[in-house]
Amino acid sequence: MTEIKKELLYTGKAKNVYKIENDDEVLIKFRDDITALDGGKKDTLSKKGAYNALISAKFFKILEEEGILTQYVKLVNEDEMISKSLDMIPLEVICRNIATGSLLRKYPFHKNQELQPPVLQFDYKNDVYHDPMLNDSIIIALKIATEEQLAEIRRITLKINEILSNFLKERGLILVDFKIEFGFDKEGNIVLGDEISPDTTRLWDAETYENFDKDIFRKGEEGVVDAYHVVVNLVLTDEEKEKWNVEKLDL
Ligand code: 5GP
Repeated sequence: MTEIKKELLYTGKAKNVYKIENDDEVLIKFRDDITALDGGKKDTLSKKGAYNALISAKFFKILEEEGILTQYVKLVNEDEMISKSLDMIPLEVICRNIATGSLLRKYPFHKNQELQPPVLQFDYKNDVYHDPMLNDSIIIALKIATEEQLAEIRRITLKINEILSNFLKERGLILVDFKIEFGFDKEGNIVLGDEISPDTTRLWDAETYENFDKDIFRKGEEGVVDAYHVVVNLVLTDEEKEKWNVEKLDL
């Protein structure tokens, strides 16, 4: 276990952000807390934080290799990531390849309808207002982002969707939808922040459509951490699993 001198800056629903010696970086601790339904449903599940950190780190590395700017610097422990310090944009950028979840509740899509091109949606990351959906006019009027920045966010999000969908397809999973967040680095670049994990994506078995993500918890079913364990096993290499002591599964 690597101990790093740190000072708490911010506590979110599932992660803590700490100031560290290097001002250009922060330490993000992925906690074992899990929440759903606007914070109405909560639990603490051993290993969940580590699995999300390991999966996020892997996705960030793959995206970096394909030229996407991400916050990722390195993992210092299985649940602690050193990241570039970003000025976060309060948008939840949602990208959907299959119609499910809130899209089915709000609009007349067919269950599991394929969405080609993918559907992009911006929600305001704001607990007081309960994350309402935004459009470009509101985003620009609220000075959350400019028209050009929004175009750039859309372009990067679609590229991320393409890279991760292909990576997961090769491992038997469908990237059904996901939520990502961006921030500005000190040069003003738009950089992928936060996390990409089974907490923030829907991942389905390509054949059975069984889900391996937070929907298990949202539905009140058992086995959410076992499902995240399956995802870690599918996405990490054997070398990475050994390094972080991830118990190997026969998949
Ligand atoms: P939906 O709008 O169907 O509930 O969610 C669409 C996708 O975005 C899902 O993959 C879901 O996990 C993710 N998502 C949307 N809003 C949030 C949020 O506030 N927190 C998290 N962790 N994920 C979200």
